[in-house]
Amino acid sequence: RDEPEELERFEFLETHMGSAFKLVVYCTGPAPASAAARSAFDRIAQLDATLSDYRVDSELSRLGDRAGGPPIPVSADLFEVLRRSRELSERSDGAFDATINPVVKLWRRARRNRELPSPEQLDQARSRVDWRRLELDPDARTARLASEGMRLDVGGIAKGYASDAALKVLREAGITRALVAGAGDIVVGDPPPGRSGWLVGIAPLDPSGPPERYVLLANQAVSTSGDAERFVEIDGVRYSHIVDPRTGLGLTSRSSVTVVAPDGTTSDSLATAASVLGPDRGLHLIEQIEGAEALFVSIPDGADAPEVASTPGFDALLAEPEGEP
Ligand code: ADP
Repeated sequence: RDEPEELERFEFLETHMGSAFKLVVYCTGPAPASAAARSAFDRIAQLDATLSDYRVDSELSRLGDRAGGPPIPVSADLFEVLRRSRELSERSDGAFDATINPVVKLWRRARRNRELPSPEQLDQARSRVDWRRLELDPDARTARLASEGMRLDVGGIAKGYASDAALKVLREAGITRALVAGAGDIVVGDPPPGRSGWLVGIAPLDPSGPPERYVLLANQAVSTSGDAERFVEIDGVRYSHIVDPRTGLGLTSRSSVTVVAPDGTTSDSLATAASVLGPDRGLHLIEQIEGAEALFVSIPDGADAPEVASTPGFDALLAEPEGEP
């Protein structure tokens, strides 16, 4: 390594996409570190403006406004997020679905009003969800939602994609030893000086508590999806903000999935898909994806002790915190 002792550690925090984003960079001094961090945060902000379903003027929302119309030319970022989403829809048998917006919207309202959507509302919303009716043309770089009333929600992949993009910006600024964390989606580059990797703590069912396990990562990503942080409780039942596209219902099983993958786009979206599929089918899906490993922690209905399951290669990623920064 080239004189790693000359590198100092810097940390930056900003809120984007409704989440706290943290950057940790090793750099020669405060001025280049701040400049690189500014560019990385600006890139995340740009992606938020492109991909948000909360903003009526985002490119994603405007594509939704044209549902049922002709194909629309889209930016490279939006196209790539939709292409990756659709690819995972195919592989997960529709468990991951970027056209889930009408159903997610119903659940957001349910959370505000503490009242379940009616079966009629759910049926109506569900009829507008179908990843096969998200049509993409890579040659023309156009996208089209084939039926009126369809809307997009890329909340299950956008933070991973944005973290990847931010890491790329840092790398282009000459900073290779960096970490980008968008809430539960963490992407890392080369390790801190003198280390073999970044030690990342995972606390499956209680993210506010101390980490229960640590993984050691370099040029990889890790994402955790679960019901721990965002859910709605109605009449004693907890519904997750992740919904099963087949039923239109927020997941009620208490579980958390941690996925390690070569990049954040993959880990973020796989964690959402695996949550919907459950431990058996979820782990089976992840085993088929190059470089991906996962840990499932779930509390089966009626049980109080968690059940733990993982892909064969997951344990090799585990490490002890001792002596690490
Ligand atoms: P978080 O990091 O906030 O837990 P996740 O990466 O787990 O988020 O994704 C949850 C988000 O994904 C939801 O808020 C919603 O926007 C979207 N979503 C929910 N269900 C699905 C689904 N079945 N397929 C794709 N996206 C989904």
